[in-house]
Amino acid sequence: TGPLPLPERTRVFVIANQKGGVGKTTTAVNLAAGLANGGLRVLVIDLDPQGNASTALGIDHNAGVPGTYEVLIDGEPIEQHVQQSPEADNLWVLPATIDLAGAEIGLVDIPGRESRLLRALDRLLQRHRVDYIFIDCPPSLGLLTLNALVAAEELLVPIQCEYYALEGVSQLLRTIDLVKGSMNDRLRLSTIVLTMYDARTRLSAQVAHEVRTHFGAETLRTAIPRSVRVSEAPSYGRTVITYDQASAGSQAYLAAASEIAQRGVAAKGQS
Ligand code: ADP
Ligand code: MG
Repeated sequence: TGPLPLPERTRVFVIANQKGGVGKTTTAVNLAAGLANGGLRVLVIDLDPQGNASTALGIDHNAGVPGTYEVLIDGEPIEQHVQQSPEADNLWVLPATIDLAGAEIGLVDIPGRESRLLRALDRLLQRHRVDYIFIDCPPSLGLLTLNALVAAEELLVPIQCEYYALEGVSQLLRTIDLVKGSMNDRLRLSTIVLTMYDARTRLSAQVAHEVRTHFGAETLRTAIPRSVRVSEAPSYGRTVITYDQASAGSQAYLAAASEIAQRGVAAKGQS
């Protein structure tokens, strides 16, 4: 795979779906690694107290490691706490620890509680070039996810090719409309990624068809196949991109990353 095109300016993605286990974290880290593999400068912000994105990118996140919590609650600069991922020279992570679970409550009494992340990102981007930012959200629509929805311009929704795939998506879209109307008018659903696609089952094909019927323009052509290599990579602190570059899962995430980068360029001059 060759170099990917630079976006006109930083693209900030929030990866959200309040359903757990649909592939949010897996998609965040592997798209990030795919874009970094194409030579772009990429930051992953781990907004889930479980810290799964930090783990998958090889970053220690024991309690006490500073990261997202200090940025949101204490107002510390992002650059003070980002760590470079061993996955690539141009891939950084703002780690999350279990302490972040307390931020959901801790934010309530802080002024501008829903725009803490936005302000931190603005400050970072005044000083540093970052091409892509992926914010990995917890499976809920609380204040942490709200911070991500306020800070991002593009919503990326992973949809698992399973029963009830679209369940919750309409609730998510209603939330987006609320956020758009009051806190962030730049936010738009830009990308849907079909995950855990199983070509052997009719169900996967049916779900993919249904999603493409509703969201034809947003859904990436590349669907991510269900693959053991994808699911085992995090236990080695790796993305599938470096863990097994030739595997079907890795090739799919690389293709998806390339689609996203190309779309960003194609979108220039529109809107
Ligand atoms: P979420 O962040 O939405 O909760 P995860 O990304 O953690 O979801 O994925 C849920 C589980 O599914 C994890 O165990 C992950 O390894 C697995 N998984 C995700 N994508 C794939 C895939 N393409 N093939 C196989 N397993 C996958
Ligand atoms: Mg997750």
